[in-house]
Amino acid sequence: MRHYFLGMAAGYSGGEWLQHLFTMGRKKDLVELTSFLGKKYDGEAILCKNGRSGLVYALKAYFSPGDAVIVNGFTCYAVYEAVKAAKLKPIFVDIEKKDLNFSVKTLEKAISAKPAGIIVQNSLGNPVDMKAIEKFAKEHKLTIIEDLAHCTGVKYPDGREAGTVGAATVLSFGKDKSIDTVSGGAVILRAPHDKPVESPSKAPKASDFLRARFYPMFGAFCRTLTYIGLGGAMMRLFVKIHWVEKSADNRLDTTRRLSKFEARLALKQLQELKRSGEDPLRDFYLVENRSGLLKELQKKGYYFGGFWYEKPVSPERYYKKVHFDEAACPNAVSVSERIINVPKFYTRTELKPALKLIKEYMKEGENE
Ligand SMILES: *Cc1c(COP(=O)(O)O)cnc(C)c1O
Repeated sequence: MRHYFLGMAAGYSGGEWLQHLFTMGRKKDLVELTSFLGKKYDGEAILCKNGRSGLVYALKAYFSPGDAVIVNGFTCYAVYEAVKAAKLKPIFVDIEKKDLNFSVKTLEKAISAKPAGIIVQNSLGNPVDMKAIEKFAKEHKLTIIEDLAHCTGVKYPDGREAGTVGAATVLSFGKDKSIDTVSGGAVILRAPHDKPVESPSKAPKASDFLRARFYPMFGAFCRTLTYIGLGGAMMRLFVKIHWVEKSADNRLDTTRRLSKFEARLALKQLQELKRSGEDPLRDFYLVENRSGLLKELQKKGYYFGGFWYEKPVSPERYYKKVHFDEAACPNAVSVSERIINVPKFYTRTELKPALKLIKEYMKEGENE
């Protein structure tokens, strides 16, 4: 029980909900974040309602309707949604089990579909071999878009930082992302483009603004209630009455900008960011008999719910819409059935018994 409550709004510790509730945002915060991102990623920055809306800006700037783009075969529905909104055709490419990313080897198979671009996502903060991907992209004239939802601050093996390589860089500030202000996103257009790009002009909707303000407080409230066994029910109620929104349901909207207080919080997180390839967003293991393992973990009081990802394109409730070609991505299918993420809110000592149990469920020779 003690562990279960830790899972709710876990990204916000201690009194951070207070800060979230009362941080004043000013127009200056939008200007400062825009300028910080423009400098850091060397391009024209636009602050958006969420990551997927930012991705639409990037895709529209560098591709034409009908173009095909390569998407990691193990991803979030938000990416698919953005590709569709930009009127492009997604080509899902299978992943390698070791880092959950496509590789030059798996990418070869996508070339016959004549892609114009490639979205690099560095799954769960595990960097791709960018040097090899870049060479591949050059050979096949692919425009690279870097999606930093999982990997802001992560370094590629050759030392370059994620977001400093492609034509455009997209950030998400959504729940549980590497920069987390509950919602929000940005895009930096790095390469020249000949299509006019208008920034979002409208302020956030009041309902979205309030949800972003209150979510960390609701999380803290529900965590407290869990001691009397009511936290989970309370959170479900909040979701039901739309005071809390599940991440995947955050609507794509390219007309709304980021809220001012989220700009301020995002800037602070970006300035303090010290993430590397050795510090992934989430650790993962591939196990056999996952449901059996989860039952045992639960018995020991652990809360390991919410996998990234439970389907090759997640969450499950949107998976059918994608018409995912499972035969083309066997590794992605297998990983989605076997992956278990280690939550960040446990200390090393707390995790020790859990990791020992997980090891017993692993296939030998994998996860090295
Ligand atoms: C979450 C996510 C996004 C964008 O998310 P938003 O909810 O729109 O901010 C983009 N790419 C990946 C891989 C993600 O996981």
